[in-house]
Amino acid sequence: MIKIEKLPLFSYFFKEILAFDSNFKLEFDRDTELFVTGFCQCGDTDCATVYLKRVKPWREETVYDITTNKGLIFLHFRENGCLEFEALTYNFPYYHEIQRAMKGDFSQASDEEYKSVERYFKVLAHESMNQVILDCDF
Ligand SMILES: [Zn+2]
Repeated sequence: MIKIEKLPLFSYFFKEILAFDSNFKLEFDRDTELFVTGFCQCGDTDCATVYLKRVKPWREETVYDITTNKGLIFLHFRENGCLEFEALTYNFPYYHEIQRAMKGDFSQASDEEYKSVERYFKVLAHESMNQVILDCDF
């Protein structure tokens, strides 16, 4: 298991995307209760899915979606405290950080990478699911 602070771009992105969606009420401490357990291995550059686990189980198993003009994010709260942070249909700004982590490289993110996370949130808007799917090249 990897401490979330070892992935500062993902951690920053996670915090900001939850703040972006005011409907989502965080009932856990993201920094101390969650650990990263793995990453999606599909190899698609528009997938930046991260698997996490909480030290305690969730109150209920559920799925929470945040659909935006910059990709789809699904939070799957699963049994035993597992959380799948599914991020699809966008080249997410922490993508390269998780690619490095998959190879065991936890070197410092560059200033440019931090700026790309900031840029992501500058023109971010909610989209309906239909709109998001029409905009993708499936
Ligand atoms: Zn994937």
